[in-house]
Amino acid sequence: MSDTLTIALSKGRIFQETLPLLAAAGIRPLEDPETSRKLILDTDRPDVKLVIIRATDVPTYVQYGAADLGVAGKDVLMEHGGEGLYEPLDLGIARCRLMTAGRPGVPEPRGRMRVATKFANVARRFYAQQGRQVEIIKLYGSMELAPLVGLADRIVDIVDTGKTLRANGLEPLELIADISSRLVVNRAAMKMKHARVRAILEHMAAATGRAVA
Ligand code: AMP
Repeated sequence: MSDTLTIALSKGRIFQETLPLLAAAGIRPLEDPETSRKLILDTDRPDVKLVIIRATDVPTYVQYGAADLGVAGKDVLMEHGGEGLYEPLDLGIARCRLMTAGRPGVPEPRGRMRVATKFANVARRFYAQQGRQVEIIKLYGSMELAPLVGLADRIVDIVDTGKTLRANGLEPLELIADISSRLVVNRAAMKMKHARVRAILEHMAAATGRAVA
């Protein structure tokens, strides 16, 4: 296992909201990922690097030890399954809700309901727990379109203000989970790099006013 500590982050909201928490742990990137094309960023700590990847890839990098630590939304972690990861700290950032949505006043079909989503595993589990028979249609974006063009009866998607749903004539229906971003740690790194990982955890926890699980 290398001596470098690697932290996986995605660009955008998670990166921006994680920056001050990393700074509290004494870690500042030397370049801005929004303007740099580099995928590996040095920090002012010679032993710490950041890898900038797609949000949905963060749990996979951490699971396989390609990154020791990462920040990922609970939605992404629920979809991934959390295998090989510790999830010791809720950072309380990038809050939103994972919900079902559909067209107002349109009842569920009598037969098997079609649900379009990029959260196929989460949606399958949610409906199975309720004993509802559904067909999951996996999409990679613009889920809101699916009920409008007759592809699906319902969608499962992230809702923040609800504006995106409303703009497309949809309404939120059922809450599946409240979402925020979590710090995740590779299981082997938690043991082998314990002192440094623990120090980062403690500093980030203090900066968020939360406790390490
Ligand atoms: P809104 O229109 O405010 O309900 O925002 C909904 C859209 O914003 C969703 O379709 C998501 O793509 C995106 N979004 C909002 N909050 C988050 C978040 N915390 N993480 C990921 N995507 C988000």
